[in-house]
Parts: sequence; structure tokens; C-alpha cells
Amino acid sequence: MQFTSTRRNLSLESAQVITKGISEEGGLFVPQTFPRLSDELISRMAGMDYKERAKTVLSLFLTDFTAAEIERCVEGAYTGTFENDDPAPLVEVAPGMNLLELWHGPTCAFKDMALQLLPYLLTTAAAKTAPGRTMVILVATSGDTGKAALDGFADVDKTRIIVFYPQDGVSPMQKLQMTTQTGGNVAVSAIYGNFDDAQTGVKNIFADADMKKFLAAKNMEFSSANSINFGRLVPQIVYYVSAYCDLIKTGRIKAGETFNVTVPTGNFGNILAAVYAKYMGVPIAKLICASNRNNVLTDFIRTGTYDRNRPFHTTTSPSMDILISSNLERMLYHLSGNNAELVAGLMKQLKSEGKYTIPADMLAKLQQEFYGGFCDDQAASATIAELFRKRHYLCDTHTAVAVNVYEQYVRETGDWKPCVIASTASPYKFAKAVLSAVEPEAAADNEFAMVDELSKVTGTKIPAPLANLKDRAVLHKSCVKQAEMAGFIRAFLSR
Ligand SMILES: *Cc1c(COP(=O)(O)O)cnc(C)c1O
Repeated sequence: MQFTSTRRNLSLESAQVITKGISEEGGLFVPQTFPRLSDELISRMAGMDYKERAKTVLSLFLTDFTAAEIERCVEGAYTGTFENDDPAPLVEVAPGMNLLELWHGPTCAFKDMALQLLPYLLTTAAAKTAPGRTMVILVATSGDTGKAALDGFADVDKTRIIVFYPQDGVSPMQKLQMTTQTGGNVAVSAIYGNFDDAQTGVKNIFADADMKKFLAAKNMEFSSANSINFGRLVPQIVYYVSAYCDLIKTGRIKAGETFNVTVPTGNFGNILAAVYAKYMGVPIAKLICASNRNNVLTDFIRTGTYDRNRPFHTTTSPSMDILISSNLERMLYHLSGNNAELVAGLMKQLKSEGKYTIPADMLAKLQQEFYGGFCDDQAASATIAELFRKRHYLCDTHTAVAVNVYEQYVRETGDWKPCVIASTASPYKFAKAVLSAVEPEAAADNEFAMVDELSKVTGTKIPAPLANLKDRAVLHKSCVKQAEMAGFIRAFLSR
């Protein structure tokens, strides 16, 4: 298996792709071809547990890893780290409506599915490409990624991890999750400013030649844990293949029968993993891309024009408050028939004008594969309330956006095919919005009171990792200006 870039023709192995994270000219790494899952292999996989399914899928993409390496990575990532033996249970909430619960990991959001595995993949890959070197993971986060990366990388040998988050841009629960993180190789700091300030600061540091020299002298190298790294995509492909196996195994569909997939989308990473599963032969019919009020993707799928020049809305589904969906670049590459030159041109336009329009033939293919829809906070709140009232199922704000858009799709098209809906966070991670949806009268004045109240009102259990937070010591109290980020990093790495 060889990988290329979306903006230039290359031929690299997976270990190189995972350690580099992003291609030098700014393109993203993509597989040159997709391995096919034969019917025979699928029927064997239906009889496997999640870890065996993961090893099977990984071995098809990471052909430069040995079977023993893949074994060690997968066992390390998914043994004892998730609430139950199945990290990604598929719950049939209503006929044909299957919620793929991806939030039973240590930080209660779907990022764990990939970020529990990435440290193993990255250290195994780095041992091949740069033996002895320490990888320094730099993260700017709007909430969920930061904690999931900290949890995954804490105390992993030959790694350091540094996370920056906007001081007032994350939920109280998310903030506490990060500031209480233990581990000898972790550093966390708030920054004055918003997520974009944190992100820009991190990008500048990645590109800073002096900083690179400083790291090289210590036999260190920057790497990225955000969703542009192929090492984060491949674990996500696994759960769509696994969902298909579970649909077959439980008799909800027959082998080969098609189903739809709905994903609450921000950076386009999660839904792209479903596309990749489809390219491998998983019979997915329609990919339903669900957005909140930041509906740049809905407009793109409907018109073929991607335009980020629009107001940014802060919503109750903050992990989808994104106007530049980085992983869409990979989709453009595949839709264009692997045309790196065309993709490079579109990305240049996005940078200079904030928008681009794809050619008609690409738009036709896009619309054949995808349906795009969105809903606002009020509609998501009504969906949480209705799902709980009618089905006694409690979902979070991001999942609610997906359920709402799925229902719009069914109303509009009459397509009742079974659907797998990605459920991306525990409702307790967004307790305030979820509580006010199911119990508008509830009076609770702080995050933990709301969590307790939500449990009382709904009779559901508080996930242990969130319940325990109350008693944990705050270890990271620093807050720096964007210009001070580099100094913070140097100080930490000199320790
Ligand atoms: C990150 C995240 C999303 C968006 O996923 P993308 O891969 O960025 O599209 C949706 N829901 C939750 C809870 C998330 O943390």
C-alpha cells in the first residue's frame, strides 16, 4: 500500500505518512488505491470481536507494519480503555435507526476511537522512520480533541504532548478534563483569545525554522494529532466496517444489502472514514452529512460552491463549529479522479478568496454520494427531547443534529433504508444543553449540579470519567498570549 498527496504525486509508505502528518507542500496524504473487502472476508469478520476486526482493517492499509506490531497497537489501544468489551456498540433505537455509540472511551467523545490508537501507530511508525527520536505532539483544541489526545499520549515513551485551548472557548467540563490531566510528558495551557488564535499560533510554531532547530538539537520532531493525520482516519474506518458486520450479525440486514450513514460533521474526518469504508466495499448507499448553523458543507453539497465568507456561529454543538473542513480536501481529490493539480488550485483559491466552485462533473458525483442538511440549536434541542420522550434514548447535542438531519432526509426522500447514525459524544459532556432540552424547568447552577440533575431526571448513568473529575486536582493553570506560546513550549521541552 502506497500513499500520495492530494496536491502532488508521491509514493510513500504508511509509517512515513503517519510521522509526517501533512505533506510539505500542504497537501494531505491519501491511499493511492483502496483495498477491497471480499464477501468471504466480511462474513469472517462478522464473527470477530472489535479488536480482531480492527487488526484486519489496519493490516490492509499499514502494509509496512508487521502483524506483531499491529497486534500490539490494537491490543494496547482497546484493552481496558473503553467502558465495555465492544468499544463501538450499535444500538437500534427505532426500526432502521441504528446509533453507533462512539463515546464509551476515557474522554466520552468519539475522538477516543482514533486517539487511543494513534500514539501506538505513531511511536511504531517513528521507530521505523527515525529511530530514537522523540515526537512532540502539538495540539490546538476547541475541546474534545485536546483531552482525547492528552489521554492517549500521557506517559507514552518517546513522546511529549502540548495542548493549547482558548481560555473562554471550551465548556467547563472540557476545561476541567484538560487541566486535571496527569502524566510526566504533558503540558496544557489556556491562551488569551479564541480557537482561531490558538490554531494560528500552533501553525506558526510548526513553520518556525528556529523552533525546528531547537527541536533537532534535542533529537525531537513535531508531529500532529489532529484529524488531517492518516493515522487518525484509519481507526475510524474500522468502526464503519464493524457496524456493517454487526448489522449482518444481528440480522438487521443481509450481507450485500445497502444501508445509509449519517454523520454529524465538522472537519469532515468522521464522514470521510465512512466514504473510505464504502470504497473498500461496504455497501453504503447515501452519506448524509449533518451540520449545525455553521452550514458551509450543506451549501457546498447543494450548490458546488464552498464559501467560508460567512458569520461564525457559536452553537450548542461546539465540535462542529468549523468553517474550514480540512478533510474535505481528500474528498475533492477522490471526486476529481485523483487530480492533484486541480485540488491544489482549489485550495489556493480557498486561501486567497475564501471560496471555490467545483466543476459540474464533480458536483454530480458529490450529489450522487451525499445528502447535506443542517439544523439550528432549537431544532437539535427539540430532537433530544423527542427522542427521549418517544424512545427513552438520551443523546448529546452533536448526535441530535445528525438525528434531526436524518429525519429531514427521510421526510424529503421517503428513503427508509436502514441507517447507521454516528453518535459522537456522551450527553453528559454537554449536560447544560441536554438538561434544558429534557427538563426546561431544571434549576442547577454549576456543571456538576447539572450532571447530577440530568442523571436524576433521565435515570441514566453518569460516565465514570466525568463523575470522577469533581475530585481531581487542577494541575495546569497557565494562560499565555499567542506570542508567548513558543516560549511556553521551549521551557517545557527543556525540562
Ligand atoms: C470532532 C467532533 C465532531 C466532528 O467530527 P469531524 O470528524 O470533525 O467531522 C462531531 N461531534 C463531536 C462530539 C466531536 O467531538
